[in-house]
Amino acid sequence: MTKETFTFQAEVSKLLDIVARSLYSHKEIFLRELISNASDACDKLRYRALTEPDLIGGGGDFKITLSVDSKAKTLSIADNGIGMSRDDLAETLGTIAKSGTQAFVEMASADKDADMSLIGQFGVGFYSSFMVADRVEVISRSAGEEKSWKWSTDGLGEFTIEEATRDGCGTTVILYIKKEDKEYLDDTRIRHIVKSHSDHIGIPVVMAGKDGAEETLNAASALWTLPKKDIDADAYKEFYHHIGHAFDDPWLTIHNVVEGVVNYTNLLFVPSSPPFDLFTPERKGHVKLYVNRVFITDDCEGLLPSYLRFLHGVVDSPDLPLNISREVFQHDPRLTKIMSGLTKRVLGELKKKAEKAPEEYIAFWDNFGAVLKEGIYEDQPNRERILEIARFKSTASDGQRSLADYVADMKDGQESIYYITGDDTGQLAASPQLEGFRSKGIEVLLLSDPIDEFWLPAVGSHQDKPFKSVTRGTADLDKVTDKDKGDKNKPKKTAGMDELVAALKIALGDAVKDVQVSERLTESPVCLVSGEGEMDIHLERMLKQHKQLGTSTPRILEINPDHDLIVGLANSVKDGGGTGDALKDTAFMLLDQARIVEGEAPSDPAAFARRLSAMMERGLA
Ligand code: ADP
Repeated sequence: MTKETFTFQAEVSKLLDIVARSLYSHKEIFLRELISNASDACDKLRYRALTEPDLIGGGGDFKITLSVDSKAKTLSIADNGIGMSRDDLAETLGTIAKSGTQAFVEMASADKDADMSLIGQFGVGFYSSFMVADRVEVISRSAGEEKSWKWSTDGLGEFTIEEATRDGCGTTVILYIKKEDKEYLDDTRIRHIVKSHSDHIGIPVVMAGKDGAEETLNAASALWTLPKKDIDADAYKEFYHHIGHAFDDPWLTIHNVVEGVVNYTNLLFVPSSPPFDLFTPERKGHVKLYVNRVFITDDCEGLLPSYLRFLHGVVDSPDLPLNISREVFQHDPRLTKIMSGLTKRVLGELKKKAEKAPEEYIAFWDNFGAVLKEGIYEDQPNRERILEIARFKSTASDGQRSLADYVADMKDGQESIYYITGDDTGQLAASPQLEGFRSKGIEVLLLSDPIDEFWLPAVGSHQDKPFKSVTRGTADLDKVTDKDKGDKNKPKKTAGMDELVAALKIALGDAVKDVQVSERLTESPVCLVSGEGEMDIHLERMLKQHKQLGTSTPRILEINPDHDLIVGLANSVKDGGGTGDALKDTAFMLLDQARIVEGEAPSDPAAFARRLSAMMERGLA
């Protein structure tokens, strides 16, 4: 077959352009990415050979070989792993963009000093080669196939594929190093990069000498199998960088050898910054499963709950069966045991951190709290454990509060844990529904993660205190006394309120469910709440945005009997102004005002504009 030419998919072309022009100062990470790929390829072949031993012909001495050709100015990275077929080469290296491609392009184009080392996290690490090379060739043979193929490109829009020759299966990546990057042709520099970035990957990385001699550059010990006392912080960090394609420091390292009904070792890392795919619908985990050092899968559903998907690392157990399919594997009771042990361990370590280093813990919570909270909803057996380490913004302080803090500071007579949900805690803090609570010194949790709408009804109460939304049902504020403030905030009942309520009800008709005199307002004239047992306002809005709900339920309009505007209205109703267009306009203006404060549009914007103009005119007259 002759040489075929392909066009890079448009996003991939953009990405290559960004990478090639990057002035990033740690270009050496390209080698870590290519060595990672080579090591993954060896892991994959080792796994496949469990059921198809012929693929490695009794061999299995996996290694990654680096060689420099100083005349041709090339650096090659060769592995004897799973390899790629012609179609694999065409698709994975150019014609099909991975989900991370666009995300990476967006990040890197928004910030010209973007951290290129993150490229591996976006699943496009291979392309980092173009930081140092102006031509890249990949010669590969897929395990079990006869033919080898060469993929070749200068990264400028097109690549070619043609038949080639190669000894055995695996992949060789040949980089034609740019003039200005000739340091990557220097043995000493390469040795140093391997030692500092790939020392603890499980597969040996060797340097091919001119005389055919080979020198192993890395320790090639599977780090998790070493005794803890022999591992220093740098080694953990380097391994985390390798396994997490990360460049930050691990925020927490959890390394244990567990002996029991099922034996296993875990080496898990909590990153110090969140990855780009934390909230993608796949909710994919990043912990690799090994059986006796043989890599099985990095996509094992039954290994850790998806609300711990921010973890990176390795779990290795000698007690799991090697040669059954991944699908069967996920339901193996031994795996279930490991999952429950790991989950408790991780939650326990987080709790320790929350107690010993509360400030550092808040940094973790800001990154991953919204993910962890999914567990309150999904993982009933661990619900209490997660609630214990959950933190919340609240009206009580600028910091984050635990439920224990909240309960300890509850007022006399206060029976519920109050909360309000919305899109943004800043906006929530300014909600009119909070006024009465604030004036009585009652703390309200400000919840702005979408998951909050789901775990709250699932949990219902904490330490026998029901969770109660301040935008739903009655406020029950009259039962609560604030020792500091006494009861002087109790609203005075102004004469004529009942008549005003009746008049507003008639004027608004079906636009509201009811009109009530409010206990929870002290400053604003009006607000909206939903009825007891009805859907909370914010949840309804969320569901409507996602088109899971068509119509809205009418809400209850609450009026503040102490507000001058409301008092004035009550007087005018008493004096015979209880009907007519003027009252109707006022009623709808009040309703629309309450909607706008909720972040919603007036129900009929044209009518709203007309009424507003009419009122302003009257004001001028
Ligand atoms: P990732 O490794 O995160 O998937 P990359 O851009 O580094 O992203 O690699 C893209 C894909 O190309 C890999 O998923 C793999 O299928 C394939 N690939 C890259 N390098 C090799 C290799 N040395 N051997 C086999 N396949 C490889």
